[in-house]
Amino acid sequence: MQTLDKSTLINKKKKKVCAIINLGDIMDCIFCKIANKEIESKELYQDDFVIAIMDINPKSIGHTLIITKEHYTDYTEVPAEVLAHINRVAKRLGDALMEKLEATGMTMSVNYGSAQEVKHYHMHLIPVDSKYKGKKTVDEAFKILTTKAED
Ligand code: 5GP
Ligand code: ZN
Repeated sequence: MQTLDKSTLINKKKKKVCAIINLGDIMDCIFCKIANKEIESKELYQDDFVIAIMDINPKSIGHTLIITKEHYTDYTEVPAEVLAHINRVAKRLGDALMEKLEATGMTMSVNYGSAQEVKHYHMHLIPVDSKYKGKKTVDEAFKILTTKAED
């Protein structure tokens, strides 16, 4: 699944400046803590660049967040190659969510500025009209999504 080469993204000079500016933000950042496994989450997918977890307060059954492992405040800071990678993950994961939850559609969204509550980049995948709509908790949805189909 992972097609992005981590070495192409490292711009040491830029990273150093970002690190100084954002150090306080990063230390308090809930999504950094989730990405670093300091806080538990219901994880559906991860690779070198992103982690996908179930939203704690879902707008629909299967509401999932794709979070960058690196702390970027919002989409304007995310390198283009990483945005492309996130979109590839979103497509694959979105298809899997729709199939497993028998949803008819998917809202994929990224909030910004005053619309964005958590200031660490993330993309929302929100399945629409699942057959389980209104009938399953986050725990139950997680079980459906992480249980392999019988052969
Ligand atoms: P935003 O408005 O920043 O795009 O949305 C933030 C999302 O993160 C919300 O849907 C909210 O429910 C979710 N969220 C906030 N804190 C946590 C957390 O600690 N764990 C998980 N899994 N989701 C969270
Ligand atoms: Zn962060």
